[in-house]
Amino acid sequence: MTHRYIFGPVPSRRLGRSLGIDLLARKTCQLDCVYCECGPTEELVTGRLEYVPTQAVLDELDAALADRPPLESITFSGSGEPCLHLHVGKIINYIKDNYPQYTVTVLTNGTLLSDPAVRAELLRADRVVPSLDAVSEEVFVAVNRPAPGLVNAEIIEGLIKFREEYSGQLWLEIFIVPGLNDTPDELARLAATAARIRPERVQINSLDRPPAYSGIEAPTPERLQEIAAFFPGSEIVARQFVPVPVAAVRPDRIEAVLETLRRRPLTQEDLQVQLQMHVHEAHKLIQHLVETGRVQRSGDFYVISK
Ligand code: SF4
Repeated sequence: MTHRYIFGPVPSRRLGRSLGIDLLARKTCQLDCVYCECGPTEELVTGRLEYVPTQAVLDELDAALADRPPLESITFSGSGEPCLHLHVGKIINYIKDNYPQYTVTVLTNGTLLSDPAVRAELLRADRVVPSLDAVSEEVFVAVNRPAPGLVNAEIIEGLIKFREEYSGQLWLEIFIVPGLNDTPDELARLAATAARIRPERVQINSLDRPPAYSGIEAPTPERLQEIAAFFPGSEIVARQFVPVPVAAVRPDRIEAVLETLRRRPLTQEDLQVQLQMHVHEAHKLIQHLVETGRVQRSGDFYVISK
């Protein structure tokens, strides 16, 4: 069965062996973050709709979980903001009712948590990972390039309310973009806001894949450590600090990639199409092969290492 809405399992630095659920047919988001690894948001979207058919997602889930694969997370992520899907709550409940042994994680930009209905839909997820990259409105606009009408103060109040209502694991991700959200003032505001939100974890992240917009770079490891010191008890989850877990990459998938690359150089998009991989899965797998020296990059292409 070819999957359209389920991808992986993929090796996730933070979540381990993760089966992804993508509830959006293409990049669909209320934000256009300068660092986004899915590329620019062509059209900012704020309305909740059934962007992909719910029953088809449930059917794919049943097929993917039929053999009860070992997973450390079933993760709502992919090409945009999963809470924009009108039935994200229904799908979470379906997993918890039928596959209670799995940990359900929702990666979200948090913008919809000001909506009580969305907060209620996420209550049965085991782990919710919202991002918060700014407190002041001008930094929010510079980093996250929101749809008109989105007010960061309201989003932050939604995060605080969600924490009061939610008893699962709340991991707050702060993505650092040097020159935009790493001034001492903004970091102090972020730290004070994180303390109000009271997440179980604060995770400091930075760029490790091609960003949506050029000119965006990762801070040095030393700078990341200085920044992390603003957030007592935080952890740095950037690639230099947490490598992708090798064991989570399926050996058969690695062989399939090498088979193809032995014949001709391929772009990541070629690999994705030929191997019917989701973009995130393809990217992580290629990254793993480069890091382990089996594949190297040559311009826009990947080639087998000599
Ligand atoms: S919220 Fe996530 S998906 Fe949306 S633009 Fe930002 S990084 Fe990309």
